Amino acid sequence: MIAVLPGLYLGGVSDVADVQQLQQAGITHILTIDSIEQNHLQHSFQTKFVNILDDSSADLLSRLPECLQFLKEALGKPESSVFVHCQAGVSRSAAVVAAYMMNTIRCTFEDVYGRLQNIKPDIKINEEFVHQLALFEQMGCDVDMSSASYKQYRLQKVTEKYPELRNIPREVFALDPGSSDQTKEVLFRCRKCRRSLFREGSILNHALGAGPAAFVNKRLMPVQHSDSTKCTSFFVEPVQWMEKSLLGVLDGQLLCPKCNSKLGSFNWYGEQCSCGRWITPAFQVHKNRVDEVKPVPIHGR
Ligand SMILES: [Zn+2]
Ligand SMILES: [Zn+2]
Repeated sequence: MIAVLPGLYLGGVSDVADVQQLQQAGITHILTIDSIEQNHLQHSFQTKFVNILDDSSADLLSRLPECLQFLKEALGKPESSVFVHCQAGVSRSAAVVAAYMMNTIRCTFEDVYGRLQNIKPDIKINEEFVHQLALFEQMGCDVDMSSASYKQYRLQKVTEKYPELRNIPREVFALDPGSSDQTKEVLFRCRKCRRSLFREGSILNHALGAGPAAFVNKRLMPVQHSDSTKCTSFFVEPVQWMEKSLLGVLDGQLLCPKCNSKLGSFNWYGEQCSCGRWITPAFQVHKNRVDEVKPVPIHGR
């Protein structure tokens, strides 16, 4: 067990065996990031258990908000000290502590990683978590669940978790704007039959033309959303009306649910945008098949 910040300790499962020793060190809170819960700690400490494996399928990013909240609440109290641990104290717990430091000290992942490795040289955060922390940094050292980067990330995770593409959680599909009359948001309609297809908020903007390399490197790419004229399609999150054609099918066409005209295509394993960038998974609607409809300003009644 090693102190990384005042009141914040990092280590492995071997450090939680001796409750008395932890208490003598002043520990009041314990955050377990592991696949095994340490039930014996519950009587003596404020505990939180986050069930995460240390592998490439694990979605640590989506669990970071609750981890950060636990750490902030604990470290907000003057007499409190927190011990964050996983199995070996090398990857998972270090990733969570890194996220906490990035969020509170406002520094980059690279800085934090260097600092942590100086304090505890055996720290080696797995590559997938490094990628997730890069996304975390891109979102302003926070998890912005409404951002395009987060939505795209979630879709990738869902595809990995449900390779048969069948029992996909329903919340992955955006609400169908075709069933509501709301006029507060910019909507996109079928050019042929004018059926509302998706909201502006469903468009998942991407950095231009970096190609597959951007993903393979898992490096943080500068986000340039300004010039998307090179992209001839909108990449969107899946919308409820697509559900029937998407489930259990790897790739295919996207057809208008009302007039059946071809709007675009989808591929759960990804497609390349006309700008060169790979989007995984991809649900694309050709820009020339839809019209943008701006909300009508409401005049005095
Ligand atoms: Zn593009
Ligand atoms: Zn149509």
